[in-house]
Amino acid sequence: MTKTITVDDLKSLLNIIAEAMTREKDRLCELDGVIGDADHGIAMELGFSGAAKAVVPLDSATADPTLVFNTAAKAFLNAVGASSGPLYGTALMRAGAAVKGKPSLTDDDMVDAFVALAKGIQDRGKAEVGEKTMVDAWAPAATACRAARDEGRSLADCLSEALIAAEAGTEATKHMVATKGRSSRLGERALGHIDPGAASATVVISCFKGFFLP
Ligand code: ADP
Ligand code: MG
Repeated sequence: MTKTITVDDLKSLLNIIAEAMTREKDRLCELDGVIGDADHGIAMELGFSGAAKAVVPLDSATADPTLVFNTAAKAFLNAVGASSGPLYGTALMRAGAAVKGKPSLTDDDMVDAFVALAKGIQDRGKAEVGEKTMVDAWAPAATACRAARDEGRSLADCLSEALIAAEAGTEATKHMVATKGRSSRLGERALGHIDPGAASATVVISCFKGFFLP
């Protein structure tokens, strides 16, 4: 998509992610049930549906993308008591900060926002790749997205590469022992199971990709 990305586009994207989380809620809760406390699908649905609802009243004529991201961030944080609350709250704030002052977004801006989102998760949670968290999906996705953009690829292509990397990163969590978050208490018993946060990150990223397909 080469047209500019507007406040209305971002509102729609949040809505699409919220709907995806409703569809994926049970699967995400089941994954969390195996290595956590079975609430991850509920948290992600509450967070993104709260975020999508909170941005509806923003006036598309006067609000800017930063306000959309910041409003979504606050709503997500308020809606979610689980660890994913502050992680996505920070991520969405960082996305807003990355595009500060812009009335609408170019494809380059969207790549910047996407990469900032991923970095926000990592900064907030202090997890590295290999610790069996959502960072195992977000970090390689951001790297792949940035690399594709540096090669001059389209936003849709960048997000396709991001999704491929997120899927591979999520699959890789099966073979990891968790060292951050609730599942770190399980030690080797977490082996063989994918991380629910990485799985939901992949859902978020697939929504980004789907939204920006030409
Ligand atoms: P809780 O563990 O509080 O119930 P959720 O179920 O909403 O929270 O989210 C669990 C997910 O959060 C995990 O699967 C993992 O991906 C992610 N997570 C936990 N701690 C961290 C961290 N420090 N950094 C990044 N992600 C984390
Ligand atoms: Mg949980």
